[in-house]
Amino acid sequence: MSFQSDIAEAPRPAQAPLVAGARLKDSHGRAITDLRVSITDRCNYKCVYCRTGNEGAQYSELPIADYLRIVRLFVSLGIDKVRLTGGEPLLRKGLTELIRELATLRTTAGEKLDIALTTNGHLLEDQAPRLKAAGLSRITVSMDAVDAPTFERITRVPGSFSKVVTGIRAAQAAALAPVKVNCVLLRGFNDDQVPLFARFAREEGVIVRFIEFMPLEEDRLWTPESVVPIREVVARLETVRPVVRLQPNSHSETAVRYTFDDGIGEVGIIAPVSQAFCGQCSRVRLTSDGKIRTCLFSQSDHDLYSRMRGGASDADLTEYIIQVIEKKEARHHIGEPDFLKPSRSMVHIGG
Ligand code: SAM
Repeated sequence: MSFQSDIAEAPRPAQAPLVAGARLKDSHGRAITDLRVSITDRCNYKCVYCRTGNEGAQYSELPIADYLRIVRLFVSLGIDKVRLTGGEPLLRKGLTELIRELATLRTTAGEKLDIALTTNGHLLEDQAPRLKAAGLSRITVSMDAVDAPTFERITRVPGSFSKVVTGIRAAQAAALAPVKVNCVLLRGFNDDQVPLFARFAREEGVIVRFIEFMPLEEDRLWTPESVVPIREVVARLETVRPVVRLQPNSHSETAVRYTFDDGIGEVGIIAPVSQAFCGQCSRVRLTSDGKIRTCLFSQSDHDLYSRMRGGASDADLTEYIIQVIEKKEARHHIGEPDFLKPSRSMVHIGG
């Protein structure tokens, strides 16, 4: 079966909520409006802070049509932003068709869905124009260094640096702008890159966001000392030029945003460890094998897909999603004595 016919045959739930007036809200009063969907567990990079380098995909993928059915249900419940991720989403056959179908959906407010994608950028040069044409709104490229030797020590893939930079430029040329570039900082690996990234943001016109390292790796690398906290990143940025704080774009903004004193370049810092933002969390995740995760640090998944495969109706699945979201965790416990590593690492959840 081709991906096109696969999608054409998928059941099409109504856009109106199947449980009248239902909106996703958890028991802590947070509205859940942001869905992250992993569309494959495979990845072509072996970043040292993410993967052991010895293991491949651990979880299955669903047919594209099934992701689409699930996203439709979530959208009918008030989701207005969908981010496709992985694994590495550009490896997934049927991605363009999925985006094309997502672009036809409307939120409960009748607006177009905000469709974003997180990628390592390795395969972006070829794909950027068709992703844009299919209806992709925004793209985030993960890039953890701006010099080739450091970058390739992290990804463990020779030639990866030039592929990613070319991919970023292709995304800008395809008007997927402003392209965001996410860099996870690890002390001793790439913390010296902060000033270089500041220059990269200013020269390339991308928004760079530094993200604190979280205990979500396959291996056991994380220690509190490996995290480069926000105040240290700001101090390193100021070696380039004085920084000026920018207003958040929205209530649920996770990045603390800065520009420089001449107004050129934007840099953000996302500090889930040193300045947790769980109180504003609006996210829910779907793993590649169709499990709902209500927090990156959840100890268990909620098996939506087995219900779907078992023949559950859209109304049954909607009820199930509402119940699962109600139980979303209040916050994570990184750095606390009772912290337990989550049951999956980042690459197998979808970041
Ligand atoms: N392959 C895609 C990519 O590279 O962006 C999508 C999946 S990747 C797991 C998503 C993001 O998670 C990347 O930006 C990666 O740097 C980040 N990430 C992975 N492990 C992390 C960790 N332990 N702490 C913080 N971010 C992490």
